[in-house]
Amino acid sequence: MIDKVLKEPLKLGELWYDDGNFELRDKEPIYRERTALAAKWGENLRRTQSFDDPVRFTIADRLDDCRPRRRCGLAACPQCSHAFQRWLYDAALTALAPFGPLGALTIVPARLQRFQGTLATLKLASAHRHLRRLLTDAGVENVPMIGVLDLSFNIHSEGLWNPLFQPHFALLLPDQHTDSVSSLLRTYVKKHPARGQGRQPVHAPIRRQAISDVNWQGSYTLKYRPIQKTWFEAYSPRAHPTEQWLQPQQQVEALLWLGEQPPEARLFMLGVRRYGEVLKLL
Ligand SMILES: [Zn+2]
Repeated sequence: MIDKVLKEPLKLGELWYDDGNFELRDKEPIYRERTALAAKWGENLRRTQSFDDPVRFTIADRLDDCRPRRRCGLAACPQCSHAFQRWLYDAALTALAPFGPLGALTIVPARLQRFQGTLATLKLASAHRHLRRLLTDAGVENVPMIGVLDLSFNIHSEGLWNPLFQPHFALLLPDQHTDSVSSLLRTYVKKHPARGQGRQPVHAPIRRQAISDVNWQGSYTLKYRPIQKTWFEAYSPRAHPTEQWLQPQQQVEALLWLGEQPPEARLFMLGVRRYGEVLKLL
């Protein structure tokens, strides 16, 4: 009986799509903007010389047809991913409530980097396995965590390395464990550096974020739209890359990577399981 519930794909009600039910984070796209984004992404997918690539058209059609009570349920869809982001934050907050305040952690595994044009060689499932192994090997597998796999597209302003996609994990966890988890992970990663030609050095593979506004952070952590980061030679240790949205070509590569998978495919959980619409600690 329980197994049946577990295997059921997550289908979210219209409540999660409707901005009126939520206090929006600053800069969070409103419903109308998300619809415009879906149309734009569909247009980019259709702009191709190759007609033996039906997945592009399938995804584009589904984005165009996504509407109330007939949702496409794709991770590539801004509306469906947005609804998932809201649901996940709400469900994570409830599931982790017994542990007190939440902390946020970003894990950036250099090994998951893929050069432009080769993102398809990374399977979502193997990225999840990679993180699970890392957490186990670092000895932090007993801390419950809930988060998503996110993407950034990184370029160097002077071409010191080739442009690449950097998959990374944005996680929420009980704040009482954030310190110990991040320090154990840092120690482990330092001892086991990723090797590989042309990789971008990851200076801070484990980043923790202080949470001052839990609603803002929850919504930010679980966001779904990849960004392009341009790295400059660091003049100061605090130098940050500039961020902008992906160019159409990279956006299409990211969309095709997600393919026809549901938003749930990006979900990573440790010590937590989904029962219907509810997340429960194991
Ligand atoms: Zn949709």
